[in-house]
Amino acid sequence: MLGIMPARNTRDFNRRLVLQAIRMNERIARADIARLTGLTAPAVSNIVGDLIADGFVQEIGRASGRAGQPAIELSIKSDGACTIGLHLDHDGCTGVVVDLSGQVLAAQERPMPSPSPETALSALTGLFHALIEETGVPLSRLLGVGLVTFGPIDTAYGVVRRPPLTSGWEDVPLRRQLSNAVGYPVYFDNNATAAASAEHWYGIGRTYRDFLYVSFGHGLGGGVFTDGRLHRGAARNAGELGHVIVEPEGLPCGCGAHGCLETRASLFALKRDLGDEWGDMDRLAAAVVEGEPRVMAWLDGAAGWLAQAVVSAANLLDTQAIIFGGRPPEPVLQVVAQRTEAHARSRFLRGDATGPRFLVGQSGARVPALGAAILPIYDAFALASAPRVTMPADNKTPLRRMARRRRRTPGAGTAASGIRAR
Ligand SMILES: [Zn+2]
Repeated sequence: MLGIMPARNTRDFNRRLVLQAIRMNERIARADIARLTGLTAPAVSNIVGDLIADGFVQEIGRASGRAGQPAIELSIKSDGACTIGLHLDHDGCTGVVVDLSGQVLAAQERPMPSPSPETALSALTGLFHALIEETGVPLSRLLGVGLVTFGPIDTAYGVVRRPPLTSGWEDVPLRRQLSNAVGYPVYFDNNATAAASAEHWYGIGRTYRDFLYVSFGHGLGGGVFTDGRLHRGAARNAGELGHVIVEPEGLPCGCGAHGCLETRASLFALKRDLGDEWGDMDRLAAAVVEGEPRVMAWLDGAAGWLAQAVVSAANLLDTQAIIFGGRPPEPVLQVVAQRTEAHARSRFLRGDATGPRFLVGQSGARVPALGAAILPIYDAFALASAPRVTMPADNKTPLRRMARRRRRTPGAGTAASGIRAR
C-alpha cells in the first residue's frame, strides 16, 4: 500500500494515488494498480479513463510472460504536458521547458551581473516568452510555471526578503510581479529546495527516503528529505546549510552572522579567494581534471568546512545519503563529494558504523531551473507534496487549470502536437 497523505479531497487523492502507482512502476496494469492502492477495480478504471482522456496516461500494449490473456499496461504519457522552470541567480537567469518525464525540451540563459529587481523581472518575462516561442508549446499543454531564486524568501506570499550577497532587494513580491507579466500563475520556491525536489523526483534521490541535498552555487543551500517528504520548516526556509556556523570567530556573512559555511564553501568564496576568473565553470572543471594544485587545495579546504556541517546535520537527521548538486560541472562536484566524505568519515557517530553515502546528483547551471519546472508537476502528481509546495495565487490545482483552459480552447486538448523535442 502507498502512504496516506492529506489531499484536497478524496477524488483528488485517489487520482494522485493512481498516478503515483503508474509513475513509480513505469508500466503497470489496472489490476496491479488496484492491488497496490487498495482502490476497487471500477474506481481504478474510472480514474485511468479520465487520466487517458486528459492526456497524462497512455496504454502501451500488453504485458508478456503471464498466464492467460495478458493485461493492457499503462504508463505516464511524457508529452502529455510540460512545464516551464525559471531560475533567477546572482549573475543571470536560466529557463527550461521540460515534459512529464523530466526531459528538457528547451533551455536558455540570460547573463546579467547583480540584477536589480526591475532588470530581473524583465529578463524572466523575456525568457518565458522566448521559451514558449522556441518550443511552440500551446498554453493548453502548459501545466504551470515555476520560479526559484536565492533565499531567504517568503514562499507563502511569493516575496524575496533581503538576501545576502545582493543589493536593492528587500521584500520584492516577485511571484506576483512575474505572474502579472506573463499572465500565468507562478509557483515559487527557494532554488536549493527546488533542486532537491528535482533530485527526489527524477534523479538519484528517487531511491532514498532520507537524504540531505547540498546545493553548491554562488551561495550554499540545501534541502532535507525525511521519510520521502521534503522538510519545509516553520518559516518554510529549512535546509539553509550555508548559514550553519562552522567557524565562530570567522568571516562576516551577508546574513549578519560570522563564520557561516557559505563564507568558506561556495562559488562566492572560491572567487573571493582565488579570483573572479574561477567563476568560469568550464575553466574550473578543466583545472580539476588536470589537478591544478591551487584549485584542488581550495576544494579540499572547502570540503573540510563542509564536512563539519554535514556531519552535524547527518547525525541530527540520521540520513541515508548526502547528495551534492548545483552549478559546477560534474568533475568538480565529484571532488567536493569525495573530499567531504574523506573529512567526514572519521567523525560519524552511528550504530551501523558506515554512515550515509556521499553521492553526486545532477550538475550544471540548469539544475535549479529543473527544480523550478518540477514545482507544478509536484503539485499536480505527488502524493506527499500536494499541501506543501507554494501554491500560485489562484489556488487551483494545475490539472484543473489545464482542464479549464482546454474547455475554453476547442481542439487544444487532443494532443501535445505543439511540443517539439529538440
Ligand atoms: Zn550566514
